[in-house]
Order: sequence, then C-alpha cells, then structure tokens
Amino acid sequence: MQNITDQALVKTESYIDGHWVASTAKIAVCNPANGEVLVNISDANPEIAEQAVVAASKALASWSAKSAQQRSDILRKWFELMIQHQDDLGRILTLEQGKPLAEAKGEIAYGASFIEWFAEEGKRVYGDVIPAPSGDKRILVIKQPVGVVAAITPWNFPNAMIARKAAAALAAGCTFVVRPATQTPLSALAMAELASRAGIPAGVFNVVVGEDASGLGKVLTEHPLVAKFTFTGSTGVGKKLIAQCASTVKKVSMELGGNAPFIVFDDADIDAAVQGALVSKYRNAGQTCVCTNRILVQRKVHKAFCEKFIAAVQDLKVGDGLSSGTQIGPMITTKAASDVHELVQQSIALGAELVLGGRRAEQGDNYYLPTVLTNVTNDMPIANNEIFGPVSPIICFDDESEAIELANATEYGLAGYFYSRNIGRIFRVAESLDFGMIGVNEGAISNAAAPFGGMKQSGNGREGSRYGLDDYLEIKYLCLGGMESHS
Ligand code: NAP
Repeated sequence: MQNITDQALVKTESYIDGHWVASTAKIAVCNPANGEVLVNISDANPEIAEQAVVAASKALASWSAKSAQQRSDILRKWFELMIQHQDDLGRILTLEQGKPLAEAKGEIAYGASFIEWFAEEGKRVYGDVIPAPSGDKRILVIKQPVGVVAAITPWNFPNAMIARKAAAALAAGCTFVVRPATQTPLSALAMAELASRAGIPAGVFNVVVGEDASGLGKVLTEHPLVAKFTFTGSTGVGKKLIAQCASTVKKVSMELGGNAPFIVFDDADIDAAVQGALVSKYRNAGQTCVCTNRILVQRKVHKAFCEKFIAAVQDLKVGDGLSSGTQIGPMITTKAASDVHELVQQSIALGAELVLGGRRAEQGDNYYLPTVLTNVTNDMPIANNEIFGPVSPIICFDDESEAIELANATEYGLAGYFYSRNIGRIFRVAESLDFGMIGVNEGAISNAAAPFGGMKQSGNGREGSRYGLDDYLEIKYLCLGGMESHS
C-alpha cells in the first residue's frame, strides 16, 4: 500500500458513528494478483454491527430534518473528494480486487457520478395533490425517507456498488450502514474517510468490516431499527436475505445475478458487434453482473463474427492490474478460476469446441486466459450458469424467434444485448427480451442517469436515474377533511 499518496485513506477499522472502531480479531486483506497480504484489518462481530445500526438510528432525525439543499451540498463535497482522490482510490481498488488500474479509476468516476447525480436528484422529491372524491376533503401526497438503510455489497465493484446505494439513501434523508464483501473492505473504508472529510455527520454513513457474513447479515436483515435492506450479490444469497427480512417486513431491494445474452443478427454491423461483445464480456475479467454470458450468432454471419471476435480476444493482454497495458487482471480467488475452468471442461466434454484459451495463464493460479468456445448449446451448464469469468460461449441460431426464445430461456433477467440495423427488428426484439436493461448496438450500458436493475430472479428495485430514489422513500397520503366550500 506504499504507493498510495494519501496514506490516511488506508483504514483498517470499521467506521461507526464517526469513529474508527477496532477489534482484537484481525483478518488479512490479500492482493489477488500475487496473494500478498496488503493489510490486516479489524474483524467486526455482530455486536459492532448492532452499534452501527443504533448509531444510524440516532443520526436519522437530524439528517432527515436537513433541507434537501443542505444534504445536496454535503454530498457534492463527497463527490468532489472522490474525484480529487481518484488515483489513490483506484490504486486501492486494484490492489484488493485485481481489475486493471484504468478500469479501477473508471469505477471511482462511475461511483462518484451516482453521488453527484443524487446530490441533485434529492432536491426533486416532489409530492402530489390529488382531486378528492368529495368537496370537503383534500388529498396530499408527501414523500419521506424510509429510515435506517442497511446494505450488503459484493467484491466485484467495491466502490460503485456502495456509492450507488448510499448516494440515493443519503439524498433521500436516510442514514446508512454497509457491510462490504470480505475480500474488498478497503475501498469502502476509504469512502468512509472521505465521507468524514466531506462533513457527512457522525452516524449517517457507517461501514462494518468483518468476516462473519451470516452473523453480520443477520443483524442487518433482522434488526427492528433497520427499515430497509438493499443487497447486491448472487441470487442464491439474495433469496436467503429476503427471507430474513420477512421477519420484520423490511422494504427490500435486490441487485442479483445475471445471464446476459448477446445476440448478433445477420443485419448487424459485425465490427461494432465484435467491439460491443469485447466490452461487455471481458471487463473485470468477466466478473460483472451485466457481463455477456452467452453469445448468440445468426448462422449467416456466424463464421464472419467468430473470425473477427477470436482475433480480437487473442489480443487481450493478461497481467497484474497495476502493470501498464493490462486488460485482463486476476480473478478474485483461485477457486473462482477453478470454477470457471470446470465449466469450460464440462462444455468440451458435452461437445463444445475450444478455440481459444481454456487454461490458467502463466501469471499464476488466479489468472484465466480469455477463452472462446464454439458449438455451444443453450442446455449446457455454461449457458445456464453465471460464468463470472473471461469465457465466451458462442451459440448458433437460425431466426429471430429462435434467438428470442434462447435468450429468454433463463431464470435471470438483468441485462441483454443485441446488434441489428433493422429498426422494426430493434423494437420487436427489445420489447420481447425479458431483461431489465437492453443494450441495442451497445455493449456498455451503465451510467448514473439510467435505471439499473433486473427482472425475474435478477432482483427488484432500480438504482441510479430518477427512479433510484423511490426505493428509499415512503409515500405518505394526507387526507384533509372539513374543507367545505362556501355556501
Ligand atoms: P455473494 O456470494 O452473493 O456475496 C455478496 C455479498 O453477500 C458479500 O458481501 C458476501 O460476503 C455476502 N454474503 C454471502 N453470504 C451471506 C450470508 N449468508 N448472509 C449475509 N451476507 C452474505 O456474491 P459475490 O460472489 O460476492 O458477487 C457476485 C454476484 O453478485 C454475482 O452473482 C453478480 O451477478 C452479482 N452482482 C449483481 C450486481 C447487480 O447490480 N445486479 C452487481 C454486482 C454483482 P462475503 O464476501 O464475506 O462472502
């Protein structure tokens, strides 16, 4: 961590009620690029998580009573500090998560953009006046913060997955407790340091770092002082957490797993489709929820697409995220690389053809070579499971209705992509795909202005955009009686 210019951004303790809270138990945070221990951090237990919830509850009254403009000014300062420290934050992120430095800095800008967005959007929490059914009544609708928000986030976007939730929650007037993934606590703690410098009052933004995922998770999902729980992670864990939230009927939003189809029709611009597939598949070594999981190519352009795509994938440079030119960093753990390898091996055994990669890279056990498989069918495990690695399975199809059927044949419904230059087909296909986000002739779809979220078992709720505040607001209806008109 020596190359971090502002060493005060490297924190090793939970941040609760404006204080850094140590514990005797420690956990090592390791660099996935080489296995080296970066730092040892304090391992918070469920009692510490409870302290965070209580602190957030105490801070709620004064934070929610601030004007939207006052909250906006403080959030704006937080945004500016994130941008000012983009280099250090990006480096911390690469060290603990592995993604190439350019991508890590991109994530900091992306995360910060949600803080900027909601600093503005918080000023536009409008109510409503509704015509009443009788003349002696008036109907008013106001929106108020839901209360204490608890969050659990994954390791693949250690900054942005927190920023996307916290920015909306704080702008709405809620207070916030987050428990980041065990592998990537440092980005979250650096955000807390900047929150403190930005003047976010004690107790409004709290970070609990600890290894006991289920123990800490139990507090955050079951504590009666928590009004809303928001989760980003796998569908399996999300289902468990929804069930835990049921005991106190919390408001819940879930950003879960995906199985994105990427469809190339025979009227597509093939070069653009190749570039789109590269971007949507290989970012973060394939470890994103909106990553292309299956590439479906119409028979007529299958050969042309595969030739160009394989050539482009072959050029991707694998290495340590801090080395210049690296495009594919390590996977988060050796187990993650092994799981991906197993899916590739199963596919080959079932008849898929390995045309590129298919093994560990020379850099070590955490590195997997960018891989392409052809002759894949939609019933193979690689097409049914979230791959979460740098592997492209290519499936051939004959016509539009077959493509839609194959694309929708999954329990997931997060992102989907397709390439076509036929305007009629563009609307038909976009309306027929059961996914919350559709990239049409575009492989990079996420930004603060757009509603991010899934259908089916990919979750519920939306993050970012003007819809992103809804999950953090209660709608309250005021019925004013005794309003008789003049006789
Ligand atoms: P994960 O295993 O579900 O873990 C996510 C978070 O949940 C981590 O902080 C994890 O802690 C915690 N957790 C695990 N088991 C828990 C339990 N029983 N109780 C409470 N917390 C628990 O997912 P992941 O492997 O970290 O992340 C990858 C998944 O996230 C993929 O499925 C991906 O698609 C999804 N994702 C979705 C979005 C979206 O916006 N839809 C964005 C990014 C990622 P530990 O770290 O300690 O295990």
